[in-house]
Amino acid sequence: MNKFGFSISQGRQINFDEIKTDKVDKLLELVPSFKLCIGCGGCTAACTAAGFTDYNIRRIHTAFQRGQYTGLEEKLQRCMLCGKCLLVCPRGVNTRSLIVNMRRILSNVEPVTWRPQREIKAESNEESHK
Ligand code: SF4
Ligand code: SF4
Repeated sequence: MNKFGFSISQGRQINFDEIKTDKVDKLLELVPSFKLCIGCGGCTAACTAAGFTDYNIRRIHTAFQRGQYTGLEEKLQRCMLCGKCLLVCPRGVNTRSLIVNMRRILSNVEPVTWRPQREIKAESNEESHK
């Protein structure tokens, strides 16, 4: 506090040259559909957890994309992986996989690649016909 009795807020500018992008790059590699996100907020509007808490999935994945990881790991625990966000996303972003992999990357656990059940079934059908 200075002698005038007020403090000056920290700047909120983001210097993209100083951001470490390794975590974002890893996430985009695991969930390529995230590149299609337009930040519309449909996922947050439909979110079950957002109805009961201040959890905001759009804000979380935007912060992750900007390399602002502080506090995200704890916030992501509020997601119950119900998948409603996945159903409403107009860009087909695999938000559930996004959440699971953000959690894993932030806690240094081996990430997972999520594939739709129909793809896995189609592959096993092909195998059985060989
Ligand atoms: S609904 Fe889809 S496109 Fe919109 S912010 Fe959420 S993830 Fe991005
Ligand atoms: S999966 Fe998580 S982020 Fe998506 S709607 Fe459900 S609680 Fe919200």
